[in-house]
Amino acid sequence: MAIVVDGVVVNYGSFTAIDDLSLRVEPGQVVALLGPNGAGKTTLLETIEGYRSPDRGSVRVLGLDPVADRHALAPRWGVMPQRGGFPMGLTVGEAVRLFAGLGNVMDRVPEVLDATGLATITGRRWRTCSGGEQQRLSLAIALCGGTELLLLDEPTAAVDAEGRARILELVRRRADAGAAVLVTTHRFDDVERVADRAVIIAAGRSRATGTIDELTAAPDRIEFRSAAGLPVADLGRRLGATVDEPRPGSYVVDASASTEVVSVINGWLADHSTLAESMLVGRRPLEDVVLELTGTDR
Ligand code: ATP
Repeated sequence: MAIVVDGVVVNYGSFTAIDDLSLRVEPGQVVALLGPNGAGKTTLLETIEGYRSPDRGSVRVLGLDPVADRHALAPRWGVMPQRGGFPMGLTVGEAVRLFAGLGNVMDRVPEVLDATGLATITGRRWRTCSGGEQQRLSLAIALCGGTELLLLDEPTAAVDAEGRARILELVRRRADAGAAVLVTTHRFDDVERVADRAVIIAAGRSRATGTIDELTAAPDRIEFRSAAGLPVADLGRRLGATVDEPRPGSYVVDASASTEVVSVINGWLADHSTLAESMLVGRRPLEDVVLELTGTDR
């Protein structure tokens, strides 16, 4: 197991930011840490990175104590630098080469610059980089670290669509090559594309954990998007099921997923001269699952 967190509590004074939280990350897996602002994701990541000791519970990273064994872990893991933290005048290329030199992986520099989309701006100074460029530089630094474990705090925040696709592809490649990856993000589409498992937290506690399929499974439910304001009671009668329109143009059918039900829905939509723009059969959007589990918490 690459990361073992057991019953961890982290307090800031009298405020409990992490409250009896446990999680596991295996080699070869991408695990996404999800939850609303202030849920405790960064605090947990920083505890795993050894920046603070838990007040209770234990953390083992690659079998070691991340506080006591930081030096032994340094060549084995890749960690994004804490909120910026670069000298203002340093250029992108200098920063990446500096960290690659420390890790003795200079041969990896071209791949890392290319994958993070920084190859064309190596001469740009840190202080003039945009938010997305600074984020990609932080990720590049993590990618110059060890390959057994990647700890990534919002690696795609403020990054454009093309940059995100490249980053996700690279993260997946590292995991497929055996790395364990723990990543925090607010991008549910990223999670659905790249993560094997997710841990959903709110108010410092774990609310749910599982594979993306497990978390989003809803065997008795079909959702589709179509024109707003369709007469759903009529569809409900045809299906012998309840049909709601919780948001304009967004429909939820409480019926077991089957080809018959899907074809009745499509036929009914055609009768109303419209069609389904998208349909989720037997699954719910991950975003809805997270919102439902964490909605009323910080
Ligand atoms: P976000 O999605 O906004 O990045 P997060 O899930 O990463 O949020 P944390 O940054 O871990 O959340 O913060 C968890 C809680 O702990 C928040 O309520 C935050 O205000 C509080 N907190 C974080 N750092 C400190 C600190 N150094 N001292 C006191 N409170 C803190």
